[in-house]
Amino acid sequence: MTKKIKRKWMSFVEKGQKWMICKICQSEYVDVDEDTAAVTCSDCVQRRCLASMPMDQFFKSVKPKTGRPPGWHFMSEYVDKKGNVFHKGKEQPELKGTLKPTKVKPPKKRKKLTADEKLFKKAADYKKRLKAKRNNK
Ligand SMILES: [Zn+2]
Repeated sequence: MTKKIKRKWMSFVEKGQKWMICKICQSEYVDVDEDTAAVTCSDCVQRRCLASMPMDQFFKSVKPKTGRPPGWHFMSEYVDKKGNVFHKGKEQPELKGTLKPTKVKPPKKRKKLTADEKLFKKAADYKKRLKAKRNNK
């Protein structure tokens, strides 16, 4: 049976405070407890945090969700669900609750075919025609 060998990270004690080298970048010393086996410096923690976060999630966490349609602040008048009135993105507190919420039309989803899909569709049509021909015989 082999015992797992714990890697010993470089460390030193200065004035009773133990310092250990960061196990990721191995260039930064971090103050640690006496029994700490390995340590990651704050820089690497941050870097790892960012790296593990998918980009879209990162942007989602940055952008607050307003529930407003894109471009609402360009509309001459926009009323949100709570009755807040905005004129070109500027809130009009005195108009609050006097207007009906602006109905936001969901963007029309028009399927744009990619070149591949077009080709595929053509092929499918062709096959259909062939089949029709055969059935006519
Ligand atoms: Zn580090």
